[in-house]
Amino acid sequence: MPIDATQPYDESNIFARILRGELPSETVYEDDYALAFNDIRPAAPTHVLVIPRGPYVSWDDFSERASDAEIAGFVRAVGKVARDKGLVPPGYRLLANVGADSGQEVPHLHVHVFGGKPLGPMLAR
Ligand code: 5GP
Repeated sequence: MPIDATQPYDESNIFARILRGELPSETVYEDDYALAFNDIRPAAPTHVLVIPRGPYVSWDDFSERASDAEIAGFVRAVGKVARDKGLVPPGYRLLANVGADSGQEVPHLHVHVFGGKPLGPMLAR
C-alpha cells in the first residue's frame, strides 16, 4: 500500500528493522552513511536498494533535514554501488519513489539501482 510521504518517520518500517539487524538482507555495500542490499523481488538482473542510515521517510524529507555529510555520503554510496556492480558501462537506472502517486511502499528513503540488461522506456506511456 503506497505511503503518505509527509508522515513522521516510523521506526518499525522494514528497512529500519534491516538497519538494526532485526531482519536479514543480502548486503552489497555499507559505510557510515548508507546500507545497500539486494531487493527481495528483483525487477532487473541487478536490483539493489541503497538507503541512508538516518531516519528519513523519502527523498523530500532527506533533502530537507539531512546534514550535508549525510547527503554527500549517501550520494557517493549510490555511485559506488553502481561502479562496484560493473554498471557504469553498460549503464543503469536510479529510481526513488516519493509518496502515494509514485507507489512508494516502504517509508524509509531508498534509491533503486537497476541494471544488467537494457531497461526499456523510463515510464509506460
Ligand atoms: P518502493 O515501492 O517503496 O519504491 O520499493 C520498495 C522495494 O522494497 C520493493 O522493490 C520491494 O521488493 C522491496 N522490499 C520490500 N520488503 C523487502 C525486504 O524485506 N527485503 C528486501 N531486500 N527488499 C524488500
